[in-house]
Amino acid sequence: MTDHLYYHDSFLYEFDAEVLAVTPSDSRPAVILDRTAFYPTSGGQVFDTGWILSGENKIRVVEAEEKDDGTILHFVEGNPKLEPGIRIRGLIDSERRRDHMQQHSGQHVLSAAFIRLFNAPTVSFHMGDEYCSIDLDTKILTGDQIEKAEALANDLITQDRPVAIRFVTPQEARGLGLRKIPPVERDKLRLIDIHDFDLTACGGTHVSTTGQIGCILLRKAEKVRQGWRVEFVCGKRAVATARHDYTTLSEGAALFSSHLWDLPQQVRKMQEDARASRKSGEQLLAELAELHASRLLAETPETSERKVIVAIFSDRDLTFIRLLAQKITRLSATAVALLAATSNPPALVFAQSPGQPFDMGSLMKEALARLGGRGGGSTDLAQGGPAQIDGVQGVLTDLTARLHR
Ligand SMILES: [Zn+2]
Repeated sequence: MTDHLYYHDSFLYEFDAEVLAVTPSDSRPAVILDRTAFYPTSGGQVFDTGWILSGENKIRVVEAEEKDDGTILHFVEGNPKLEPGIRIRGLIDSERRRDHMQQHSGQHVLSAAFIRLFNAPTVSFHMGDEYCSIDLDTKILTGDQIEKAEALANDLITQDRPVAIRFVTPQEARGLGLRKIPPVERDKLRLIDIHDFDLTACGGTHVSTTGQIGCILLRKAEKVRQGWRVEFVCGKRAVATARHDYTTLSEGAALFSSHLWDLPQQVRKMQEDARASRKSGEQLLAELAELHASRLLAETPETSERKVIVAIFSDRDLTFIRLLAQKITRLSATAVALLAATSNPPALVFAQSPGQPFDMGSLMKEALARLGGRGGGSTDLAQGGPAQIDGVQGVLTDLTARLHR
């Protein structure tokens, strides 16, 4: 088992150790040391990265993982050229470690705040690259509760309370009123003690006073299967997130030449305007279709007691030609309309006035057999999306000839 130096000192960023083994893996070589300050992924906190120095060699540690027996694997880049017995110096990426400490200690403060205020226990903790989250065992969680928990957590941070690491036996732990006791039995439990606020069993790396967390910013809250998930960011991540939010909001506000706090109101107004425009556009289109229908019916002579209208539009879409077909067959009791729109995507609509003897569905099938694409419909109305529109004039002319027979 590797000696876990980070159990006793979260601020140990450099250490000396001896190489015990290098696991023979071509794709992912891993170094095993007698002692390490590299934190392996565990308890919601993600692994440290850093370097192993050996003579002139600077070997990049990309991940650390703990095996069931307590051995820690340091996955390294390239071919490490390390032999058992060699002394090395380990360097932790301290920026990354400090970020993890801010997030993890922040989580303890936040979880304790949710217990104190609303008796809502934390059932899991996730640390992501951008944000962290806890799952709370609670049926409801309001925006007001979120603000109150955030405020209490930040009060604890400004009070800069000491955070101590303690080791106790399971028997001792039982009398201490821990927020969380791990399910596995161990000889010694490691406790993280936030003075007079929270006492929890945890193996993670933590700040030494709550002030080092910096701040906590709560963000999205969503209902999940077993309760509520609350996203949060601490310390420098909180500042970076707030900066990102501000930039985004400012860009949005600039588009409306408004203050960023007025952005929701501006967006609502724009949505209303867009709805009104859409409605008037639809009305105009219907009126235009009606005019087109009247004109086409007036221009088309009756042959064999019916009017066969064939029209191809290069600047209209399916919606318009369908509307036009409906208007034509409503305005005239003896009309058959074969309409095409060549715009992208191209469309066909065939329609006849009720009582006319043809079958628009089978005419559409014939047209699409020649042009490709999909479509269909009933005897009175059919529509299709041809795969290609070249030659549509010839197809419609052929179909028209059959209608006059
Ligand atoms: Zn923890």
